[in-house]
Amino acid sequence: MKRSRSFVIAVSLLIVAGVTATVVFFAAKTSEKRNGAEPVLGVQPASIQRSRAAVVQEVINRIEQHSGRFAQRIRQAFSLLEHPELADALALPFELWEINQHNPNRNYPEFLQRAKGNGFQQANVNYYAYDLSSSPGMAATFSPATRCMDVDRHFDPANALDWLVLYHETYHVAQDNNWRVQLDSQDQLDAYLAFHMMENPPEPRIIINYETTAYAYELECLNLLTRDELRQAVTVGRYNLERLRVILNARPDQQGMIEMLWLFALAYWPDGTRNNQHPPPFVRHVVEAYQARGYELYTTNQGRLIKIQPNEL
Ligand SMILES: [Zn+2]
Repeated sequence: MKRSRSFVIAVSLLIVAGVTATVVFFAAKTSEKRNGAEPVLGVQPASIQRSRAAVVQEVINRIEQHSGRFAQRIRQAFSLLEHPELADALALPFELWEINQHNPNRNYPEFLQRAKGNGFQQANVNYYAYDLSSSPGMAATFSPATRCMDVDRHFDPANALDWLVLYHETYHVAQDNNWRVQLDSQDQLDAYLAFHMMENPPEPRIIINYETTAYAYELECLNLLTRDELRQAVTVGRYNLERLRVILNARPDQQGMIEMLWLFALAYWPDGTRNNQHPPPFVRHVVEAYQARGYELYTTNQGRLIKIQPNEL
């Protein structure tokens, strides 16, 4: 699939220039209502909300204390990149982590309390908030509608796979930023939020070109963590995945994710991303992975989200 060059450049400029923009977000979160059960309604004691905010703050502190070190580990390996021009794009999530450390409203439960049920806003288009994930074991998931990064309360800074998941999801923050700055009417913003906030859609949805880019760069970082071992292993078609787990210091229950990344890697190399284009076999593989899980596929096209059939890619 073709990636527009303007994407990376636009987001990079946005960050370098420190452009600020005000975007209104809504207090309601949909992800917590998708488990099929009716939420229990009632007045919740303020202390419960406060304790959730305290846990979120602990996770934020853990992430922010160690994110610079993880970024440095990747940056120091940029010299191993087969296509060095990828370095700027790969560093984008690291820049967002740094910028967001200045966001006074990055603790979502605390932010909600202050908003008192009204809409609220982030002061800078690069800012996002953190909340707790409702899927245990999933290090992070970004929700564009609320600009919220839902993180596992057990996020482990010593676990490089947790970082890679957070990295991938932060790429989605950059994509969301880029999308929002291109919106030029309230109707367009409403349509975008409705796409992400639609409750109980018949099928789960995914913006497939966002996923291919996020996975491509996740693989590049994964390869740098192995000192280019992963890419070289693809040429012979096998790799000791237990060794990969040990390099990442990942948990045994993350083995399934490691296997999935290895399958993506087999389709991604030997070509890798060049001239902002991902290898077609890799794109097909990502598409098939989402199709197999029942996802509807969308792609971004001139400010609109278009539903596509897999054979249109
Ligand atoms: Zn993703």
